Amino acid sequence: MTTLNGVGLAGRDGYWDVTLEGARIAALTPSEGQGGGLLLPCLADAHVHLDKTFTAARVPSRPQSLHEAIELMAGDKPNWTAGDLRQRAARGLRRAFANGTKAMRSHVDWTEAGVPAALPVLRELAEEWRGRIDLQLATLTPLDDIPEVGARIAREIAGTGAVLGAFIYRNDDIPAKLRRVFDLAETHDLQLDFHVDEGLDPEAQGFDAILQETEARGMAGRVLVGHCCSLSVRPEGAVADLLGRAAEAGMALCTLPTTNAFLQDATPGRTPRLRGLAPIHEARAAGMPVMLASDNVCDPFYPQGDYDLFDVYRMAVLAGHLDPAGWLDSVTETPARWLGHDFALKAGAPADFIHIAATGLDDALNHPRAARTVWRGGAPIPETSGDLA
Ligand SMILES: [Zn+2]
Repeated sequence: MTTLNGVGLAGRDGYWDVTLEGARIAALTPSEGQGGGLLLPCLADAHVHLDKTFTAARVPSRPQSLHEAIELMAGDKPNWTAGDLRQRAARGLRRAFANGTKAMRSHVDWTEAGVPAALPVLRELAEEWRGRIDLQLATLTPLDDIPEVGARIAREIAGTGAVLGAFIYRNDDIPAKLRRVFDLAETHDLQLDFHVDEGLDPEAQGFDAILQETEARGMAGRVLVGHCCSLSVRPEGAVADLLGRAAEAGMALCTLPTTNAFLQDATPGRTPRLRGLAPIHEARAAGMPVMLASDNVCDPFYPQGDYDLFDVYRMAVLAGHLDPAGWLDSVTETPARWLGHDFALKAGAPADFIHIAATGLDDALNHPRAARTVWRGGAPIPETSGDLA
């Protein structure tokens, strides 16, 4: 039996004694003491790209737009052998685990007729990492390619727990192509995850078409939309109406603040004015589940990062004017629930959590160098868990 005395619990007042029995939390009781540090639930990163990750150093230039990043990434794809993919993706998982992530959804590019090399590699890694990081996969295909390859993808992933996805930005004839995506999801019982409206053109209105299909088919709790940057520049009245309907339809929103800040409104020699952050306060107030995720790490879409979702949260607190305690669920319990887990710290739950040597959440955010210890199964993980090799 282990007891952590006088710890703060993020989102709860006072100090607590947390008793662990084996791999479980046995009890949380109000403490007479304090000064024991802060506990957070583990992190759930609902949108990353393990196939693209750690390629930034070998692409020839720094992109200035999403379009350029896509081209640079395509130029690197001949390097994506099984060995290369495995080495990079495994490094991403090690860093995420060391930083306190327990569940993750990775997108996998799929544009070809056959199975992409990354898919079997990431499936193997998901198996190897079971119990440490629950890794779910989502396919990512340009919407225009869906008519050609969508059926093949849906058949391949049906019954595996993977999610069907598409990239949508001002395509021609979005409603008809989207109907095809939703048909495939219904036929094969798949959840959906979209990269949508990742740009600052108010005419980017893929969100509206996804909403329409979600409503029409009653797919509450099964459709996640990521990015939605153009909602930040569309008329507020129209956006409020859309967000209200999306909440009613059971859609969830995932915002990716690092990649958006890097790629949106980027012009050499000019200071960015617009940051591409979707209206997350409004979405959550309307009733949508809202989550924040890492998205790209050390690739052309975002050449920095460390699979540290708490660091992404630190940035989002500033960029989005978030109340630190009030929004912590957007990187912990809300994405965990969306991915099918419960990360809440309570008696009987797994003794999996993050300990930070800080007096509270503000103090933890103020001190990026405050010691962070990840506990899994009732004990701290080895310090070597996050080795970069
Ligand atoms: Zn993404």
